[in-house]
Amino acid sequence: MNNKKIAILGAGPSGLAQLRAFEAARLNGVENLPEIVCYEKQSEMGGMWNYTWRTGLDKHGEPVHGSMYRYLWSNGPKECLEFADYSFEEHFGEPIASYPPRAVLKDYIIGRINKQNISQYIKFDCPVRWVTFNDETKMFTVTVMNHKTGKQEVNDFDYVVVATGHFSTPNMPYFKGLEDFPNRVLHAHDFRDALEFKNKEILLIGGSYSAEDIATQCYKYGTKSITISYRTQALGYDWPEGISEAPLITHFEDEIAHFADGTSKRFDAIIMCTGYLFHFPFMPDPLRLETNNCLYPENLYKGVFWQSNPQLIYLGMQDQYFTFNMFDAQAWYARDVMLGKIELPKLDIREKDEKIWLDTYSKVQTVNEEIDFQAAYIRELVDATDYPEFHVEKQGDIFKEWKKDKKGGIMSFREKAYRSTLTNNMAPELPQPWLEILDDSLEHFLHISFEKETNSIPKK
Ligand code: FAD
Ligand code: NAP
Ligand code: MG
Repeated sequence: MNNKKIAILGAGPSGLAQLRAFEAARLNGVENLPEIVCYEKQSEMGGMWNYTWRTGLDKHGEPVHGSMYRYLWSNGPKECLEFADYSFEEHFGEPIASYPPRAVLKDYIIGRINKQNISQYIKFDCPVRWVTFNDETKMFTVTVMNHKTGKQEVNDFDYVVVATGHFSTPNMPYFKGLEDFPNRVLHAHDFRDALEFKNKEILLIGGSYSAEDIATQCYKYGTKSITISYRTQALGYDWPEGISEAPLITHFEDEIAHFADGTSKRFDAIIMCTGYLFHFPFMPDPLRLETNNCLYPENLYKGVFWQSNPQLIYLGMQDQYFTFNMFDAQAWYARDVMLGKIELPKLDIREKDEKIWLDTYSKVQTVNEEIDFQAAYIRELVDATDYPEFHVEKQGDIFKEWKKDKKGGIMSFREKAYRSTLTNNMAPELPQPWLEILDDSLEHFLHISFEKETNSIPKK
């Protein structure tokens, strides 16, 4: 038995990727696997993909992790996030449409884990409280609160894998006069159900994915008017009547927002779609990642190993075009380092490597270049391990189509279909216009997807 011990913090897609990577090694006959414990704050796995009705604090008084909401559908094609070792077709029995709702993606993520019986390594209801590193023993000490026993637990580990996500702690800016705004003010993190805003006039602040998605959701479920206020650049879609864009707010006066172009409007609610803070309250300063949301955070070798102490690993800390397959690529690479299969170079070489990536990244300007940059990053990781080969560059091309398809119709792009790079099969079209599918449950999606053509219940 390899007597190394590994703590994985978080059982969302990144933490589960790490568990699956070790399981794949075990199934391939690798012996001497380390002892692994995964600490998860929630009572179930799936991370961000668990819908919760709670906001604020959870049942144990911990900050609620979830930022997802009812009626959320994937905003990117599923063909670009397919696990290379577990296709959608393997999970659902037949091809499904390219943009599934949240519950369908959650079912897929959990399917791969349940199939391998991996959940035995996860300790639920265990938020991590504090991590330290001892320079003499070269071990981490991890303190967690075990809400199941009501006691704190302290254990030592050779490696710590931080997989706690970075889309959970709201970035909440201030605008003059906000304290006197008499109606509701919330962050996208606490948005749960568009029906709350039916027939209302709402203001969304922010110019990225949360703003565009909450705008389209609210339109779909009957919000009267939606104004999106951007700081840097308008989203610029061909919006339907009822959605419009405005420049940044200068100040609020009672219920009225004043914009930089001199216009103003009254609102029933403000939703800050202003992104998230990287927040690791359990990490001391020398070990804590500090970055904005970008494609290559600094101080991480290969985007994962903490430069000054590579026994500390951060997964999934990049801004994300690619998601699940990128987390896998990182987790397989990190696994091989932890197993001693890949030897890390010395610090100066690691820093040179990081600098090369950062220099390349500094020249990236367009969305297409960003997609290629992230694909190249994943390619390098995948080539170094036995993670199953997959066509990450072709998936990049699908992302470029996705971008055009969104431009072509922000309310209808989810009706487009793409070809799986794993199975080479084309996805079926969404059976109805996205705007007309109000029930986002797994059951309803499978019902409308399969009933007409096959009359069969897909095998799982
Ligand atoms: P998370 O999924 O955030 O998981 C982190 C886990 O760590 C959670 O389970 C959390 O409970 C746990 N944790 C946190 N703190 C602690 C602690 N102190 N101790 C123990 N456990 C802790 N991606 C897509 O591919 N497609 C989409 O359509 C898409 N939509 C999104 C919509 C929204 C609103 C948001 C916010 C994100 C979306 N994403 C989407 C991105 C999403 O974040 C990733 O798909 C994925 O969930 C990231 O996985 P992760 O494991 O890195 O982080
Ligand atoms: P984000 O992509 O980090 O964008 C944050 C936005 O907030 C930016 O437009 C930024 O403007 C703006 N902002 C920040 N501070 C501001 C300020 N002080 N004043 C005005 N604007 C400010 O965050 P996000 O949009 O929340 O997306 C996070 C993740 O969630 C993404 O990975 C996304 O894919 C995912 N998501 C997915 C779905 C879905 O799948 N359906 C839905 C929602 C979110 P600047 O451009 O000026 O910096
Ligand atoms: Mg390989």
